[in-house]
Amino acid sequence: MMAAPLLCGAALVIGYVMLVALAIPQLPEWSQPGVEQWLFDIPQHAETSDNGSYGDSAPAGISAVAWDGFVGDLSNVHGLPMMGPVQLWSTWYDKPLLGCVFHDPRYQSHTGSDFPVNEGTPIHTTLGGKVVWAGSNGPWGNLVVVENNGYQVWLAHLSSIQVSAGMILNYGDVVGLSGNTGNSTGAHLHYGIKQKTGENTYAWLNPQSFFTEDEYIYIGCSG
Ligand SMILES: [Zn+2]
Repeated sequence: MMAAPLLCGAALVIGYVMLVALAIPQLPEWSQPGVEQWLFDIPQHAETSDNGSYGDSAPAGISAVAWDGFVGDLSNVHGLPMMGPVQLWSTWYDKPLLGCVFHDPRYQSHTGSDFPVNEGTPIHTTLGGKVVWAGSNGPWGNLVVVENNGYQVWLAHLSSIQVSAGMILNYGDVVGLSGNTGNSTGAHLHYGIKQKTGENTYAWLNPQSFFTEDEYIYIGCSG
């Protein structure tokens, strides 16, 4: 006799969950918090071209961000700049591109990974360190760069910036909100990791190497 109310309650909970699920059929369960439109409403080419190389092929231009030389604690880059799992697609050109894309054959100059998310998604630094750029920067749009011990993380196309140059951030601090500024044709975050390799040399590292499998859902990349 005691089971009946419990069963009734369980049925109500299940019904409620189903109703909630049916109310947002367009959102995959792994979508980022705050995302209202995820897949096919976002332009397929999030950036028109040449976003990454622009800044470094013109070191004296507006896009150059000088190395600061800051060295402090929390200097290891890891994780994702957004909360929640991230979907990876098999090809970059027939779906909005996500973490798969780094130096894609069709976009050689690309130097990071793009994550389509609605404007206004909180973006976190994946590196504790010093803010060495916080502001508008040509093709990068509103850009935040955080540096520590020879590494920089670049967070681009933001709609708003919530830090300023010179600030020391902890890992995971919010630097701003995602957006669609600069060389961007749809709301997305461009996430790049740059390593100083010599006095005048550097390398862009594949951000995907800094994710762990429990931080995203992997369904395959064509490479
Ligand atoms: Zn990009």
